[in-house]
Amino acid sequence: MTIHLHEGDLPADVDLGDVIAVDTETMGLATARDRLCLIQLCAGDDEAHLVRFPRRDRPYGAPNLVALLADPGRLKIFHFGRFDLAAVKHWLGVDCAPVYCTKIASRIARTYTDRHGLADLTRELLGIELSKTQQSSDWGADQLTEAQLGYAASDVLHLHALKARLDVMLAREGRADLAQACFDFLGHRVALDLGGWPEVDIFSH
Ligand code: MN
Repeated sequence: MTIHLHEGDLPADVDLGDVIAVDTETMGLATARDRLCLIQLCAGDDEAHLVRFPRRDRPYGAPNLVALLADPGRLKIFHFGRFDLAAVKHWLGVDCAPVYCTKIASRIARTYTDRHGLADLTRELLGIELSKTQQSSDWGADQLTEAQLGYAASDVLHLHALKARLDVMLAREGRADLAQACFDFLGHRVALDLGGWPEVDIFSH
């Protein structure tokens, strides 16, 4: 695994292809309160590009990264994209699309379990143990530790492989269209989160 750390934006000469794994690290779980600190990107190889943001007013202004996230010709793979999409919408001002979410795919394909965490998926589908020990660390620090960088990178390195495995299961169970409809709706779900309906099921009675 090779980690490239960039400050403030993705360099213009980095080409990550048409299917890009994306993850974010923030100061916490409240999107409007807890700033976006880091975005991790991977093209499906063993290289991770990490873009670090110092504290600044929003929108941050990262034109190369924003163009990539908004590019309709590039599919962005997330795990629990609902959180990451809200963070990039709030802090970068970008509507990220089109998207694929391995957590949604897992919930729709793997109905035999309620374990849909990223570490659960990599363990069962890929035989890889992911460490989650740095998950709650200080992502706003001036210097990120080697452990933090390795953890952040590991969160995007397996998403392409997980997507491949989950797509096979979705097709086998006849649920690929349902999953795709959910991916297509995810941006609207995020708009509801940010607009004041964060924990309301608008479809409920
Ligand atoms: Mn992460």
